[in-house]
Amino acid sequence: MQEFKNLMISVSGVRGIVGEGLTPEAALRFAQAFGNEFGPGKIVLARDSRVSGPMLRHAVIAGLTAVGCDVIDLGLATTPTTELVTERPEYAGGIILTASHNPRQWNALKLLAPDGLFLRPEQGERVLQRVNKGDYAFAAWDRLGRVSEYSGAAEEHVAAILDLPIVDAERIRRRRFKVAVDCCNGAGEAILPQLFEAFGCQVVWLNREANGFFPRSPEPVPENLGELCSAVVKHGADLGVAVDPDVDRLALVDENGRPLGEEYTLVLAVQFVLGKTPGDVVVNASTTRAVDDVTAPYGRVHRTPVGEIHVAMKALQIGAVMAGEGNGGVMYPELHVGRDAPMGIALILQYMAESGKKLSELRAAAPDYVMIKDKIELGFGTDARAVVERLHRRLENENVNTIDGLKVLYDRSWVHIRASNTEPIIRIIAEAPTAEETRALVEKFKSAVVQLTQ
Ligand code: MG
Repeated sequence: MQEFKNLMISVSGVRGIVGEGLTPEAALRFAQAFGNEFGPGKIVLARDSRVSGPMLRHAVIAGLTAVGCDVIDLGLATTPTTELVTERPEYAGGIILTASHNPRQWNALKLLAPDGLFLRPEQGERVLQRVNKGDYAFAAWDRLGRVSEYSGAAEEHVAAILDLPIVDAERIRRRRFKVAVDCCNGAGEAILPQLFEAFGCQVVWLNREANGFFPRSPEPVPENLGELCSAVVKHGADLGVAVDPDVDRLALVDENGRPLGEEYTLVLAVQFVLGKTPGDVVVNASTTRAVDDVTAPYGRVHRTPVGEIHVAMKALQIGAVMAGEGNGGVMYPELHVGRDAPMGIALILQYMAESGKKLSELRAAAPDYVMIKDKIELGFGTDARAVVERLHRRLENENVNTIDGLKVLYDRSWVHIRASNTEPIIRIIAEAPTAEETRALVEKFKSAVVQLTQ
């Protein structure tokens, strides 16, 4: 068994702090195992803007070529762009060097299956087993992989969005939207300038340079978007757009400088798409109930455990018209079942262009819910899962869904309680029509958990 310290290893990849846990050696071994599992063949490689990206790129290329895989290097590219390239039949898989919304000292290898989706748990398990056993089959000197570069991926991604029947770029262009855009110095620069140009938008750029020096905490949640909110007001923009460093999460700010909250990116996208194409929607267990409300006239909402791959697989299985996660992750299955911020931007601009409404008006027409995310630290040695189990037994008179932890459902509100996989922590998320009701629900379940641990 190969030992790695300070590294978070899971079936979806390997993540750590550069210099502490995420070493070139760790990246090399995962690349070798991945190449053996999915090769021989061509593997797509991309990176977000992190300073450690080029260093890890060398390690991953060494590992992939050593086991006989050719590497198609996209250079700086977003996660959804890389997914779209990987799903093409000539590619055997993909690796993206990004730690998504984690701070700049972090990085990770995100692993993509040949269909451009994240690895299914059983696929990830096989890669992990190879790493643990040190089980690599190296290629002979005359069978080593080769490296080529491809710089057309973002252009292809934009073209694929413009080709969709639901997107009418000419109609968006006529509105001459002014948009303030905050890329957090992530990979957004690789695609958003082309996208907004295609839509004829006038753009006020913030933190556009893809240099990996994130000027703020990179998660696009309201408390991190102060600069964007001010820019929207100062420049009289029609909306503000924020993405995370690998551009799979999208957050919106209305024309008054008010952040909508990431949940409402998906709510508005679902509302728009279903209004044109009735059908079913897939979201994870923690996504806002507002999605159920806006879907009700058109179809059913299916819920999955938290994790993009669970949402994607369910969406494929049932032929969902829309899918996603409340963390700003919009999936439009007609393009692909990956969270895709550029796709989300296109849907929101199209919605504004067709409805003739301001973003604040679209938000005001959507149902109001307040979500609170909290956690309970249990202290080391406490089995968080066992605590959740005990709580479950106390809830026999409640309407409880156990698809992922415990989700207690009420008429207009819910509480979701999950044990963390990696820490002695219980996560608790609640949602209700008002902040008071939500806070009351959180407190009620927090004290129930605390009682059970005493
Ligand atoms: Mg991300």
